[in-house]
Amino acid sequence: MSPTAKSVLNDVFGYPEFRGHQEAVIATVTRGRDALVLQPTGGGKSICYQIPALLLEGTAIVVSPLIALMQDQVAALEQLGIDAAYLNSTLDAGAQGRVFERLHGGSLKLLYVAPERLMQAGTLERLSACRISLIAVDEAHCVSQWGHDFREDYLLLGELAERFPAVPRMALTATATAQVRTEIIERLALHEPERFVAGFDRPNIRYLVQGKQDARRQLLGFLSERRGEAGIVYCLSRKKTESTAEWLRSQGFDALPYHAGLDGETRAEHQRRFVREEGVIVVATVAFGMGIDKPDVRFVAHLDLPKSMEAYYQETGRAGRDGQPSVAWMVYGLQDVVRLRQMVDESEADEAFKRRERAKLDALLGWCEVTSCRRRSLLEYFGDTLDEDCGNCDVCLTPPEVFDGTVVAQKLLSAIYRTGQRFGAMHVIDVLLGKDTEKVRQHGHTDLSVYGIGSELDQQQWRSILRQLLVMGLLSVDTGGYGALRLNDRSRPLLRGEIELPLRKDLLVSRKAGKTRKAARTVAIADADQDLWEALRNCRKRLADENNVPPYVIFHDATLLQMAVDKPQTPDALLAISGVGQTKLERYGAEFLEVVQEAV
Ligand code: ADP
Ligand code: ZN
Repeated sequence: MSPTAKSVLNDVFGYPEFRGHQEAVIATVTRGRDALVLQPTGGGKSICYQIPALLLEGTAIVVSPLIALMQDQVAALEQLGIDAAYLNSTLDAGAQGRVFERLHGGSLKLLYVAPERLMQAGTLERLSACRISLIAVDEAHCVSQWGHDFREDYLLLGELAERFPAVPRMALTATATAQVRTEIIERLALHEPERFVAGFDRPNIRYLVQGKQDARRQLLGFLSERRGEAGIVYCLSRKKTESTAEWLRSQGFDALPYHAGLDGETRAEHQRRFVREEGVIVVATVAFGMGIDKPDVRFVAHLDLPKSMEAYYQETGRAGRDGQPSVAWMVYGLQDVVRLRQMVDESEADEAFKRRERAKLDALLGWCEVTSCRRRSLLEYFGDTLDEDCGNCDVCLTPPEVFDGTVVAQKLLSAIYRTGQRFGAMHVIDVLLGKDTEKVRQHGHTDLSVYGIGSELDQQQWRSILRQLLVMGLLSVDTGGYGALRLNDRSRPLLRGEIELPLRKDLLVSRKAGKTRKAARTVAIADADQDLWEALRNCRKRLADENNVPPYVIFHDATLLQMAVDKPQTPDALLAISGVGQTKLERYGAEFLEVVQEAV
């Protein structure tokens, strides 16, 4: 009897049930139809092509942009007893030859290929001579110029429609607004694809956003409750990743820098340690992350703002792919706003592109300042809805206080106007506070009527107000002229008192949030026998090292935790645990059963 999708899921992958659209996607593709699959990270997209690959005759081609990701995926498949390989520039001629032999021999079920490699005439010719079961394009948003990961090579993939007219093709991505969705279908020339759009919510990720005061101190406060957890800290500049990593090490964290300026060997080593060891923090520029398939990243922290909501969603999405509680934490300040606007204004791109970039940045900035559930507004941006507030974001956990900001905003605008719209934030605030600086005296600003009228607030509070007005477009920054603040059309009604202005008092470090979260997690692990949990983790680490794979490729945390709770005594009991399939039972079952037996 030929296997069914469900039996493959149970026996090979060891999972009891399909998730979300998986079953429907598999049915569509095995019937020969094209498919577009939109699912958040961690939603289980891989199984959507891996199971069809096992059910259909021939070899499935999986187009994937990054080399590290291919290697990990192939290693994980081999652990499941599946015949898989990859083709990319890291293989020498001999190794490539062997992959082609397996391909022609017909035994290979999945072949991962980088797009530029796939579209080479030689590769296409060889593939045309083989039986291809399906073509899956992973990270399909790379084909879109609207997306944030545009890759030239992806544009060529449309040709596959003519090359392999009888082969079903599928596009998969975690990020896609309606626009990107349309672009994917057009550029990949999908033929009447069935669309599967899952909600974008990542309920296990807690969103925390704070105004930037003393970023390092804030980060330390956040990390102090997370010692031993693996995470990513994003910074804008290479230099800052290095200084931050060094500082974190001085604070006792296992932190490593990662950016495109490091030599290849160092980068590979830092990435390897992040994936293979437990509790490593990588401090990185956006160069890090896309190719990393590590499911147990417990937090993603942003010390600088990302460029857009899409980028934020993608970057924070690297946390908690295993479904366990995780945190997306971010601080942002006035400087970030000014600098990012400047980067857009000064870029070489054409006006239309800049307009788009500005709109995207503004959406993100507006989101930082929301006074209602953060998750709801994040999802709304992607055209998704949530029926009620999430209870798992900073706004839900510690609702921000709002106050009538009309008067303070008027003071600020007046100070900008009276000083001639020629100065940046620092000086304008000094004037408001009535500070006696060299610059204030030099320009005779002590004589102005606005001098010292803002002493009821401190500098941080003024910066917060300034930032909120900027985000709301109630004043402008002259990014060409050293960041001078200016009034604009929208400032006037405010100055005349024609509009009301509710502003949020800036959120202080949200301690309450940190505590509740920790409690929630300790319960999950506390349900398990602590000694057994440790022993199981040690066993996993040993097997991982022996097999030269990351620990999660042996078993995920969730699977191991379940073992520590259920304490299975027999192979059947072990097989009943989600994440334990036939091959892994045969390979590792005995060792884990032994660990359990010693503990009970
Ligand atoms: P994506 O590519 O969508 O980010 P993955 O395919 O890497 O997600 O899957 C995320 C995690 O969920 C993986 O560890 C995978 O093994 C697991 N997973 C996928 N489908 C199921 C399922 N039906 N039941 C349990 N776990 C699943
Ligand atoms: Zn919320």
